[in-house]
Amino acid sequence: MKKIWLSSPHMGGKEMDFIKEAFDTNWIAPLGPNVDGFEKDVSEYLGNQHVAALSSGTAALHLALILLGVGSEDYVICQSLTFSASANPILYQNATPVFIDSEPDTWNMDPEQLEAGIKYCLSHGKLPKAIIVVHLYGMPAKMREINLVASKYGIPIIEDAAEALGSRFDGIKCGEFGVMSILSFNGNKIITTSGGGALVSRVEDYIVKARFLSTQARDPAPHYEHSSVGYNYRMSNISAGIGRGQMLVLEERIKKRRSIFDFYKSEFSDLESISFQNEDINSFSNRWLTCITVDDKSCKTTNESIRIALNNGNIESRPIWKPMHLQPVFRGFASFLNGTSEYLFKHGLCLPSGSNLDEADLRRISSITKRQFIK
Ligand SMILES: *Cc1c(COP(=O)(O)O)cnc(C)c1O
Repeated sequence: MKKIWLSSPHMGGKEMDFIKEAFDTNWIAPLGPNVDGFEKDVSEYLGNQHVAALSSGTAALHLALILLGVGSEDYVICQSLTFSASANPILYQNATPVFIDSEPDTWNMDPEQLEAGIKYCLSHGKLPKAIIVVHLYGMPAKMREINLVASKYGIPIIEDAAEALGSRFDGIKCGEFGVMSILSFNGNKIITTSGGGALVSRVEDYIVKARFLSTQARDPAPHYEHSSVGYNYRMSNISAGIGRGQMLVLEERIKKRRSIFDFYKSEFSDLESISFQNEDINSFSNRWLTCITVDDKSCKTTNESIRIALNNGNIESRPIWKPMHLQPVFRGFASFLNGTSEYLFKHGLCLPSGSNLDEADLRRISSITKRQFIK
């Protein structure tokens, strides 16, 4: 039986043309026509914002914090239920993370806990410097409520849209909500550049500065002159070539991922103990990953026994992200909790959702999963 991966790269066909052009013209560097072209493609997709193509989504988040002036005296609020890359850059800046639990509808930042977290920071004498909101597995967070809280206190939102390219809320695309937003094009994301990311903003100055900082912060001079700390965070022209090809098939990829969600939803419709992440009436998810919770009152099965059964069938599935407030590396930082992220971690499972899965693959996954309930 061939291996089924959780989410593997899915080329569209035009990627090699852009890479060949880079070779033919010898633009084998972290700059060139593909980098410019890819930034233009992403910009046009996300409401003509300014875009800097970078080496990773993590690099984009790090630069966003630097550009907001986050330093060692500052609090940064971050969703607890996420991938560690959302929170690590807070520690790169020696700032203090404050973790916020999720609400049970979208599994993203709970607006009430957010306000509690802000009040905690204020009681320690400081307004948080930024709020990092994540659209987990492609599902838009409750941006209306979160925006209300953020603007009430005047705190900028950094939108971690690494998993949510193509998702929308209130007709606005994820990646358009933040003062700055970040994207990831890692190999497992909805589209990929093999590895890469982007920083996106309406504020041109942020993106101009991000390009400067990400190319070693060279001041204008014939020699190498530096008055600030630089980084090597720019995207390569080869990777950007893959990205240009991938942007051509983004809408197809979203359609396919959503159809995979629909397949699982209908296959498991009789299983009361399986629940899904819900789209709000105003939201549209790219359904990057279909995730379920398994809460079987008769205890025939658990998320973990399904994971093991799938693994024995050569199928990769994965637990939901372990919340940041439970991670050893973030021990001791304040967190504002309501039990949701711990419940989701305990009961959740991400099912294979790659856009290159076929009907036979999906049937294999479904039949092994369903078998766990009739033991
Ligand atoms: C993938 C991911 C990142 C990091 O992106 P990289 O390109 O892998 O550095 C950040 N946040 C979330 C939620 C992610 O899923």
